[in-house]
Amino acid sequence: GTTSYIHARVAPLTSRLILVLADDRTREHRVESIRRDFVANVSHELKTPVGALTLLAEAVGEAKDDPEAVARFSSRMHVEAERLTRLVQQIIDLSRLQNDTLSDEAATVRVDDLVAEACEHSATEAEHKQIEIATSVEPGLLVHGDRSELHAAVSNLVENAVTYSPDGSRVSVIAHRDDDDVRLTVTDNGIGIPNDELDRIFERFYRVDPARARTTGGTGLGLSIVKHVAASNGGTVEVWSEPGLGSSFTLVLPAHQNDIDEETA
Ligand code: ADP
Repeated sequence: GTTSYIHARVAPLTSRLILVLADDRTREHRVESIRRDFVANVSHELKTPVGALTLLAEAVGEAKDDPEAVARFSSRMHVEAERLTRLVQQIIDLSRLQNDTLSDEAATVRVDDLVAEACEHSATEAEHKQIEIATSVEPGLLVHGDRSELHAAVSNLVENAVTYSPDGSRVSVIAHRDDDDVRLTVTDNGIGIPNDELDRIFERFYRVDPARARTTGGTGLGLSIVKHVAASNGGTVEVWSEPGLGSSFTLVLPAHQNDIDEETA
């Protein structure tokens, strides 16, 4: 497992063994209840787009003499189908990550590629909202990790920044080396997150405002994927946010020992 916080708890030597055993049982119990909640939540979340698709399919059938209505329902079906696809993909990503072993697909990954791909991923939505995504990546930065997992994490952060920002605002993605780490920060001037919700947003299916998240197509899984990717690649994720001002998420990953220049030199 990646988390050993239980063993990190300070305890007098004599009671240590007992404490660890007791905590392991508690942990098992908790893992099981999280798993059960997850399955219940997945079922619930899948029912929403499937239900909408069913109703819309019926509506299309009934409106067949009204081309305008057919077009309107079809485009909503498209939105719901996309939401469903995204949800299923995120559930697959998450269940793969939850094995919690260090990723075995580890490779040397260029940070500038990760950033470029993440921006590309949100380019259409950003353009639609006239949001400029500014990037600044220290040349030659490399991380050691699972390429597709890291791609999913960075893309999720940029996507959130764009989603929760007003039209015409600015998003920035900055990556630089800090001792043995690479720090990749995505900053937006969006709606921000209330302080007392900051520790909850990384939970599966947690959304600050479920009603709004539904209209933005959110699943509540993105940040829990980010958190798991960070953990299974030996890193962490930090967040700073101020309602009304914006948010800033930093992915901290172990840097690859050699930057590109040194490696090819
Ligand atoms: P979602 O698919 O709903 O975006 P996430 O797990 O990615 O799910 O995020 C969880 C919640 O955290 C979101 O519903 C949103 O309320 C909040 N959130 C995430 N990123 C941002 C951001 N950049 N600005 C404001 N709120 C955010």
